[in-house]
Amino acid sequence: MSKLLQVFLSDDASNVSVSEVSIDTDTDRLTCTCPGFKGRNTCKHAREVEARIRAFGGVYPMEFTDRVDEEELVAAISGGEDMLRQFVLKYGKVDVL
Ligand SMILES: [Zn+2]
Repeated sequence: MSKLLQVFLSDDASNVSVSEVSIDTDTDRLTCTCPGFKGRNTCKHAREVEARIRAFGGVYPMEFTDRVDEEELVAAISGGEDMLRQFVLKYGKVDVL
């Protein structure tokens, strides 16, 4: 299954865009939704996430806002792909890159 790890905001090329980096939990491969990822299979977002995973010993250090609802967290972890994605979109900290 694919798990959303990090949402990035970019403002290069004079427009603001949102990129989502996900990991395939079967293959551990990262994918990103930005145009730069297509064709090359890597981009600055995927490289950043990869570097963080390496720095944290194989686990992505996800950051959430303080207003995380614990019941929702439990539901998201035990739920499917889409529930996890919704949770990250709602509570995950967005990085600018
Ligand atoms: Zn990207």
